[in-house]
Amino acid sequence: MSSLVFLDPAYPAGRVADIAAAHLPVTLQGVNRGDGVFESMLYTQQTVRKIDAHLARLAVSAQACDLVIPEEISWRSAIDTAVADFDATGGAEEAVVKLVAMRGEHDEDPAVCWVTVTPAPSLGRQQRDSGVDVLLLDRGYDSKLAERAPWLLMGAKTLSYAVNMAALRYARKHGAQEVIFTSADGVLLEAPTATVLLAQRDGDTKRLLTPMLETGILPGTTQGAIFDAAKQAGWELGYGPLRPEDLYQADGVWLVSSIRLLTPVRTLDAKPIRMDAELHAQLSALTDSIR
Ligand code: PLP
Repeated sequence: MSSLVFLDPAYPAGRVADIAAAHLPVTLQGVNRGDGVFESMLYTQQTVRKIDAHLARLAVSAQACDLVIPEEISWRSAIDTAVADFDATGGAEEAVVKLVAMRGEHDEDPAVCWVTVTPAPSLGRQQRDSGVDVLLLDRGYDSKLAERAPWLLMGAKTLSYAVNMAALRYARKHGAQEVIFTSADGVLLEAPTATVLLAQRDGDTKRLLTPMLETGILPGTTQGAIFDAAKQAGWELGYGPLRPEDLYQADGVWLVSSIRLLTPVRTLDAKPIRMDAELHAQLSALTDSIR
C-alpha cells in the first residue's frame, strides 16, 4: 500500500497520515496556483536512490520560488518514516518517493510539505525494455530565454507540470509515447519528465552528450549520475547545443529519469533512431550502478 508522511514541527520523525483521506485546505496557493516544488526519487532494494542530489535540487527549486522549506534533516526523517511505513504495509519492488513543498494560503505561512511512497508505475518499466516512439514538439521559447527571464523559474522543478502532461497526451493521440521539446530556434531541450542523452561511437572513443543547462532545462540527477559513472568508465562527455539532426546521426538516444531510468528512443517523428546494442548494454550497466 502507499504511504504519506507530513513534515510537521510537532513530529520530528514526520506525521504519518492516511493517504486515502483528504488533508489539504482548498485555499492553499500551492493548490490554486501550482505554486510549489517537488522531487521524485526511486526507492528500490531498500535504498532511496540519489537522495543527496534530489534534496539539493529541491532546495534550489524552493529558493528560486522564494519558498522557505524545512531543513534537509526533517526531509530525511520524514522519508525514513515513509519508506518504513511503506515496507511495513507490503512494499513493492520499485517505488516512487515523492517530496512536495507548496505555498500555504498566505505568503507568510509555512510551506505545506509531505512525502509519499507509492508503487512505481509498470509502464515505465515496460518502456525500459521496449523503448519509446518520440515526437519533437515546439516548446515555444528561444534557447536564451532562461538567461533573460529568471522569473519564469526555468530549471526549477515546480508543481506546474500541466504543459508537460498536455504534451504527453498530444504525443499519445498522435501515435507516439514520448516527447522531446525543441526551442523556437531549433535547439533540443528535454522530455516532459526526462533528460535526453545521445551517444556517439568513433572508433574506440565513446561519447555521451546531453543538452546544455543554459537552455533552461531541469538539471537531471540521473543524467548527472550517469555522466559521473561514464567518465569513470572512460567515456567522453559533452553538453549541447544539440539539434534534431544530432539525434538522427547518433548511435543511440535515450530518455533518462529517476523513476524510469534508461529508456531507449526507437523513433523520432516516425523515423528510426539507431541503437548500438553494445553502447546500450554499457549505459544500462552504468545506470544500474547508481545509488
Ligand atoms: N526534466 C524534467 C522536466 C523532469 O521532470 C525530470 C524528472 O522528472 C527530468 C528532466 C529528469 O530528472 P531526474 O533525472 O532528476 O529524475
